[in-house]
Amino acid sequence: MDSDDLIFELGTLVDESAAPAPDTVDVTGSGTLRAAERRLRDFFLHSSAPAVTVTVGGRTAGVVTRRSLDAAGGTAAEPGAGERLEPLGDSTRYRLLVFACRPCDRTEHRMHYDLRDLPECAHGRMELQR
Ligand SMILES: [Zn+2]
Repeated sequence: MDSDDLIFELGTLVDESAAPAPDTVDVTGSGTLRAAERRLRDFFLHSSAPAVTVTVGGRTAGVVTRRSLDAAGGTAAEPGAGERLEPLGDSTRYRLLVFACRPCDRTEHRMHYDLRDLPECAHGRMELQR
């Protein structure tokens, strides 16, 4: 699924009436809407924020709130959709990954290690710190 399709499908989770949210979750590389939805559920599980701005490929898809995500609960799942494999038994454990660029000391945080979606800087791919 490319970014345009994902942004379009994320519309089913977005709360159009929500105010802009300071927290951001980048769901770039989510193979399916369901995978993106899981990243968002993961975020809300470990954050007390009521809403989050969702981005795909540097573009804003919209603001998803706990309520709009719950309202979408389950209905967004496509039966038999090819869901990306994620380690089992680890989904409720929060592990913040820190990536850094050596030349410029820029850091970026991710909640998932996704080979297809590693943070990059103008200096190239950023290194996982811990
Ligand atoms: Zn850099």
